[in-house]
Amino acid sequence: MKTIGLIGGMSWESTQTYYRLINERVNESLGGLHSAKILLCSVDFAEIEECQAANAWERAGAILADAGARLEKAGADFILVCTNTMHKVAPAIASAITIPLLHIADVTAERLRAANISKVGLLGTKYTMTQEFYRDRLEQAGIEVVIPAGGDIEQVNAVIFKELCQGVVRDASRRKYLEVIDDLKSRGAQGVILGCTEIGMLVEQKHVDMPVFDTTIIHAQKAADLATGRA
Ligand code: GLU
Repeated sequence: MKTIGLIGGMSWESTQTYYRLINERVNESLGGLHSAKILLCSVDFAEIEECQAANAWERAGAILADAGARLEKAGADFILVCTNTMHKVAPAIASAITIPLLHIADVTAERLRAANISKVGLLGTKYTMTQEFYRDRLEQAGIEVVIPAGGDIEQVNAVIFKELCQGVVRDASRRKYLEVIDDLKSRGAQGVILGCTEIGMLVEQKHVDMPVFDTTIIHAQKAADLATGRA
């Protein structure tokens, strides 16, 4: 079995979900007492968030590139960055390692294509929803992306940083997200990407009447399958 390297802590709320999902999937594949071989390098999210807010992406990239290099040195066979947003600095991380980086937008695009989705709603941080690094990757895979309208972008973003990344799950926020998802649907989305690794704490497939693509689940399962040889 291959060893999975996780760059986590962004936030730790979602990293614990990755840890559980990867182990569950490996055990589903191999049975018995099997569990995943995982190396975790967990950063201080406050430092990363400061870089985001200050537009200091190079500094954030250096922190995560260092984490990637340490995981490679420790024996990881491939690496996951356990956040959508910080894939903005995926090129900096990739250039610091010689092992593969499993890009969250690529594995998500693969699932969307398999489900025949050509137009999809995207929820995530304001960086993920409005900047090119993530949407371009989906669009290059032939998938049109719709994002929330105007003020909804700030509200979706605020719930991530002020609530979910701090372990707070509110019914009122779920209602807001479901309203935003309805709006994306009325604008032609055939499904919705939960493009932030904490959103699954708030919204699940059972709440939504179109296909939901939870990037944490997709990313974690793909990693487990690559590790066990199932994918
Ligand atoms: N985990 C979130 C994401 O997937 C947000 C935290 C961050 O800004 O990295 O984008």
